[in-house]
Amino acid sequence: MGSTGSIGTQALKVIEANPDHFKVEVLTAYSNADLLIEQAMAFRPNVVVIGDESKFTYVNDALFTYDIKVYAGQEALGQVVEMEEIDVVLTALVGYAGLTPTMNAIYAGKNIALANKETLVVAGELVTAAAKLKGVNIYPVDSEHSAIFQCLVGEWHNPIEKIYLTASGGPFRGKCKEDLVGVTKAQALKHPNWEMGAKITIDSASMMNKGLEVIEAKWLFGLRNEQIDVIVHPQSIIHSIVQFEDGSMKAQMGLPDMKLPIQYAIGYPKRLPANFPRFNFMDYPSLTFEAPDKQTFRNLQLAFDALEQGGNAPCILNAANEVAVQAFLEDKIGFLEMSDVIADCLAKVAFVKKPTLVEYEETDQSTREKAMELV
Ligand code: NAD
Ligand code: MG
Repeated sequence: MGSTGSIGTQALKVIEANPDHFKVEVLTAYSNADLLIEQAMAFRPNVVVIGDESKFTYVNDALFTYDIKVYAGQEALGQVVEMEEIDVVLTALVGYAGLTPTMNAIYAGKNIALANKETLVVAGELVTAAAKLKGVNIYPVDSEHSAIFQCLVGEWHNPIEKIYLTASGGPFRGKCKEDLVGVTKAQALKHPNWEMGAKITIDSASMMNKGLEVIEAKWLFGLRNEQIDVIVHPQSIIHSIVQFEDGSMKAQMGLPDMKLPIQYAIGYPKRLPANFPRFNFMDYPSLTFEAPDKQTFRNLQLAFDALEQGGNAPCILNAANEVAVQAFLEDKIGFLEMSDVIADCLAKVAFVKKPTLVEYEETDQSTREKAMELV
């Protein structure tokens, strides 16, 4: 899901390099019809879905002679994940839109390779409970969570004392609030170590990405809030660290390349051979670490606050952030104002302690309305 995006296109590279291991059944995209058509011609799935219904005829005409079924619209996006031939669904779409397809896939008994962290941020408790009920696995694609998962192999019965999620610090590491007042979207979209979609790149610049990842980690690994810490590591070589009850720490490291965690998630438990560039110690004479600055990067603090509050607070945080990031990308608000919108929504949208799926939907909607007003 989301085959035309940063994760989606890299996943197709992994699949292309391992034709004996993987077959593509379904490809979905929101609006990039040309790339979706090109991918469909190359990978010959049974079905493609284009989210934007106005592009249905265009895609359908292009694939008419290929014996590929074409569907369009949000409902179809949610339904195709249930198809019988599917073993694993890679959720690489952005934002809240990932929740319904992920839940449907779990209820249909499919394993999930999860890139779409927002799904766990919004409704981690429901999603992980459904996965447990249906006996399906959620394999992390996010590099930090993949690192933790890789460190836990062979340690399933050893309790985790603590995890450290590493953060690059983004393009504005070391800056103070005054420096950030007038930063432009072009500056925010320049990530030092990773090339990613626009939303997650802005989230990385504001450190909301790490905040979302803290919440994602809680649900993926069943942790208490105080067991999760963030450490800034500008080189992005150590992808995260687990500390066990004897004090021993395990870290996973390598060059930053999302193809590795993608391949590990869809190939698990195998480590498939790959020709990704290898790490050379001489290129990195020092790996460094520093504390995150939660005052300048207020989004990170807001995410910890939402986690602590629990209930629908992370859902409010996520929806407000999606609206704020979009508004920043459209030059409607400044960089620091994104945090104001999120903090205001957290203070004003009705708190629900143990939300149902319907209540999450309502929270998402009412937060978007509130955030839009504030913008
Ligand atoms: P992207 O913007 O590059 O791609 C998003 C894909 O999802 C596109 O194919 C798009 O067509 C589709 N899409 C977008 N909105 C949609 C909607 N409303 N309905 C259906 N489809 C929709 O994003 P990305 O960088 O590939 O990120 C995807 C997810 O993976 C995000 O949740 C992100 O946080 C997570 N992630 C990305 C990276 C990375 O390196 N890019 C790393 C870790 C986690
Ligand atoms: Mg990450």
